[in-house]
Amino acid sequence: MTKPEQLLRLLQLQPGQIRGYTSAHHQFPLRVPRSYIARMRQRDPQDPLLLQVLPVSAELNDVPGYTSDPLAEQSCMPVPGVIRKYTGRVLLTVTGACGVHCRYCFRRHFPYADANPAARQWAPAIDYINSHADIQEVILSGGDPLSLSDSRLAGLLARLQSIPHLSRLRIHTRLPVVLPERVDNQLLNWLQGSRLRCIMVLHLNHPNEIDASFRRACDRLRAAGVILLNQSVLLKGVNDNAMVLSSLSESLFSAGVLPYYLHQLDRVQGAGHFEVSNDRARAIMDTLHAALPGYLLPRFVREEPGSRGKTPEWPATSQPQFQPGVVQMSRAARDKSA
Ligand SMILES: *Cc1c(COP(=O)(O)O)cnc(C)c1O
Ligand code: SF4
Repeated sequence: MTKPEQLLRLLQLQPGQIRGYTSAHHQFPLRVPRSYIARMRQRDPQDPLLLQVLPVSAELNDVPGYTSDPLAEQSCMPVPGVIRKYTGRVLLTVTGACGVHCRYCFRRHFPYADANPAARQWAPAIDYINSHADIQEVILSGGDPLSLSDSRLAGLLARLQSIPHLSRLRIHTRLPVVLPERVDNQLLNWLQGSRLRCIMVLHLNHPNEIDASFRRACDRLRAAGVILLNQSVLLKGVNDNAMVLSSLSESLFSAGVLPYYLHQLDRVQGAGHFEVSNDRARAIMDTLHAALPGYLLPRFVREEPGSRGKTPEWPATSQPQFQPGVVQMSRAARDKSA
């Protein structure tokens, strides 16, 4: 569905009930599947799923520090479609399309036309991976990689599998969440048949996103040997609350998914109204930590341009971590006792 007025009608809402209602958003229009709408509450203008997808006028505000390429990704592309930021793993942006347009998305301004290898033009990306034997893992990203057809995915996978130094395939996708039917037999067949260890990093932000059809999709993925993890983004008005996040972790676990990351918002133009302050975020993490077993506690991180991995935002590190005096003393003590 792509028309805000139609979405509101389905939910029995009037435009006047939405703060900053706007019917048109040309650059990054409304996009949301029916099956996701079915999980929204009727007549609730604050529904946490609705807030993630409905364009509002606050997106047009210029907020200082918010830019169109907050992660400077456009500067680490050795060949089209390959993002090389991390050691041992590369990101392939295989498509610009998504099943849903999340209003906070850091890729909302991304020039996919330049970054995506067009149909059957994987060759430069495959050659790049082939010639870098230190790469063990390929991360399919986008956009949403599962918006590619099964046959295109199978073709890509066949090429990746033939690269001997690759051992893992990771897929970052929101489609099994917003459109669980996407987890079809063909997809399961190619995942199951792969020699690569498959990891799927799903993207749920709120426990209301979990319903019977999502659980079924997860069951089938796990039966095909796929390891399921989840990453969320901390979003004001959606999940900036320890009760909601702990319920999300519990529900994910019962669906066979482990919480992986909770991201501090990327500072992308148009998303400033979703920001949660670091102080508030850390207080939420403290509460979560007290409420959950360690394996249900997501790592609260921030993505920084030019960094080789995520930056942990919790626990707060106010103390200097490295105290040379202490290290020297203990080394001296050890030498003495040796
Ligand atoms: C962080 C991130 C990665 C890789 O990071 P890991 O620390 O290996 O999980 C890949 N894709 C996206 C979209 C990310 O945000
Ligand atoms: S599915 Fe992922 S990539 Fe697509 S709009 Fe949402 S957050 Fe962005």
